Amino acid sequence: MVLQSKLSDKSTRFTESVIRGMTQLCLRHNAINLSQGTPAYQPPDEVRYAAIEAIQEGYNQYSITWGAPDFRDAIAHKMTTFNNIPTDSAKNVTVTCGSTEGMLSSLLAIINPDDEVIIFEPFYENYGPDTIISGAKPVYVALRESQPVDGIMQFTYDSAELRDAFSVNTKAIIINTPNNPLGKVFTQPELQEIADLCCEYDCIAVTDEIYEHMIYDDKPHISIGSFPQMQDRTITISGLSKTYSMTGWRLGYVVAPETLTDAIRKMHDFLTVGAPHPLQRAGIAALNLPTSYYEELVLKYNKNRQQLLTTLTESGFSCFSPEGAYYIMTDISNFGFPDDTAFAHWLVKEIGVGGVPGSSFYSRSELGETKFRFMFSMSKDILEEAGERLMRIQSKL
Ligand code: PLP
Repeated sequence: MVLQSKLSDKSTRFTESVIRGMTQLCLRHNAINLSQGTPAYQPPDEVRYAAIEAIQEGYNQYSITWGAPDFRDAIAHKMTTFNNIPTDSAKNVTVTCGSTEGMLSSLLAIINPDDEVIIFEPFYENYGPDTIISGAKPVYVALRESQPVDGIMQFTYDSAELRDAFSVNTKAIIINTPNNPLGKVFTQPELQEIADLCCEYDCIAVTDEIYEHMIYDDKPHISIGSFPQMQDRTITISGLSKTYSMTGWRLGYVVAPETLTDAIRKMHDFLTVGAPHPLQRAGIAALNLPTSYYEELVLKYNKNRQQLLTTLTESGFSCFSPEGAYYIMTDISNFGFPDDTAFAHWLVKEIGVGGVPGSSFYSRSELGETKFRFMFSMSKDILEEAGERLMRIQSKL
């Protein structure tokens, strides 16, 4: 009780991660965990061997705080060729402990008290605490769903609402493409509209592109930082966690203009000193994988996407067909539960499958209480087993 009064205000303004809480619940009930976005796969063999070699060769002390030079070179090459953002490894790249730290270091580097940050909603749950920790005032813009056609929904924002969200106090807008939890991939016209507003209101685009290599149906990945008008006002964040199935390695990076990079590097240095040095060495091997690696990745995930979409639609969910990433957002209104949390607990205990209550992706829980997210980075067998279990929903209601 006494200690409660010693806590910072910030620490009391957000709860523990709902997603990680769902993982605990799944473990307790032996349920198939389709909640947390942990890949079911392993990093390629040559990348794992590179990590072992790096340790044997003695890369066991700190790297330069903002990243080992060769790793930054590989990132700069990838950013220049894949993202179309001309990148200098000496001036523009900061290696961070995952893109999670990249986002927080970036916001800490640019936010002053009461600066506003625009966030599309629903959003990846970390952005809530990120704004609180950095002291930003979040301004939400809704991604609204259309009426489902054949059980499938689309999500878009309203241009007038987006324009209204900008003000003289806007410091930044957070973009996440492909988006978690919706799998929405922002289009060229959408990004152009956002870029024009950023220039008009003199603010920064902070873009989280961690799922950039997981896009389906031949849609392109477009980085807003590649637009000439945005090159001096974009912070692009990505990482190796998802593309190479190495969420535990904690390798992320931030690419930004030199002045912003200098500030981000300072935040990063005093938060974490640096990302694991031997794993950065192995990260070079990952970034040098051939194009076929990325093609196979998309094929693999696309099969999972189709399998889970079919299962969920047949089990009575209305689904948003994701254009990218590895999540499917659904609507659970049909099932008649009081809210998404009640449904989440019932699904784990009675059906043996875990997902994430939609409310955790919204600023106000009531906005997401009819939504529920599943992830599909799972082996075919486990997705099949989850499918068989989900088909029992109707008989258990
Ligand atoms: N950004 C988004 C949108 C995510 O969904 C996730 C993980 O689920 C992350 C960032 C975290 O990535 P990292 O492992 O690089 O910290």
